[in-house]
Amino acid sequence: MRTNEPVPDDPVLEVSDLSVGFEGFDGYADVVSDVDLSVGRGEVVTIVGETGCGKSVTTKAITGLLEEPPAHVSGTVTYDGTDLFSLSDEERAALNGDGIGMVFQDPMSSLNPVFELGEQLADTVQFGGTSPDGPLSYLRRRYSRSARSEARDRVREILTQVQMPDPDGAMDSYPNELSGGMCQRALIAQALLNEPDLLIADEPGTALDVTIHDKILSLLDDLIEDREMSILMITHNLGVARKLSDRIYIMYGGRIVESGTTAEIFEAPKHPYTQGLLASMPRLSDEPMAGGISGSVPEYEDPPEGCRFHPRCPYADEACRSEQPPAKAFSETASTECVRYALEDPG
Ligand code: SF4
Repeated sequence: MRTNEPVPDDPVLEVSDLSVGFEGFDGYADVVSDVDLSVGRGEVVTIVGETGCGKSVTTKAITGLLEEPPAHVSGTVTYDGTDLFSLSDEERAALNGDGIGMVFQDPMSSLNPVFELGEQLADTVQFGGTSPDGPLSYLRRRYSRSARSEARDRVREILTQVQMPDPDGAMDSYPNELSGGMCQRALIAQALLNEPDLLIADEPGTALDVTIHDKILSLLDDLIEDREMSILMITHNLGVARKLSDRIYIMYGGRIVESGTTAEIFEAPKHPYTQGLLASMPRLSDEPMAGGISGSVPEYEDPPEGCRFHPRCPYADEACRSEQPPAKAFSETASTECVRYALEDPG
């Protein structure tokens, strides 16, 4: 478990009241509701929840990757004091890559299959998230020998840092000639090329087999130690969250249902969903596994009234079915949304 647990009094990223819905054939899907979160400078923050809880939609809304419509995004996202939702598409594109780096979930489909790796990463160095000012400007910069050579040197350097085997060979290869682990390293390298202040990592390594996944997580751990970068990570794996995070947000049904430092979440989980997730973790012991969570995540076109977790919660009662539970704070960093804690003694 990480030990430095700063309270973000000067957050690099602050999200308030973020809601996202989608128009669909089956009606309006209310996928993310009233999300508040923050990431401090140099802090590693993780959003944890089952598949389908709204984690990836939340980060796509933060990075401006949702097309509106069919998406409807509201709320406020502030990066380093700038309101991201007030930026033009060009200003937003310039920020993505240079200020905010993103590591996508599926390494095999996130690289361009028709360019050699070295070429696409050198483009990232030279052009970042910005579109060049027209084709002539692009060609002038792209075919300037000295600029290109510097960009390729930078690519080689960062590929070495992410422990890519044979960086020169990888640069001359197309993505389909690389293994899944190499593609994941390439994506992490791409996100780090322009030294962003904030890295958003969506389930890094999950699509890979378990040994490569572990290597990718160790690599991220080393990079976190080496760089003063803020990281917002998504995972459904509590072990990963415990190893890498300073603070954790637990997400269920599109809402943040509990938040706290890693120690607060693992040593004193409050929300029944968090308790169920922890009880679902496999342990090396002869004891039979306790609990877990029955059922599945809600349909977002017709979510349950009141607390969205009530159809799966062993403590649900009438109050849970009729009203959205208020958030209750337990410390500067810990809070949970559950009616049991609105009572004086939850028992
Ligand atoms: Fe369970 Fe009720 Fe708390 Fe929701 S509000 S988590 S249903 S006890």
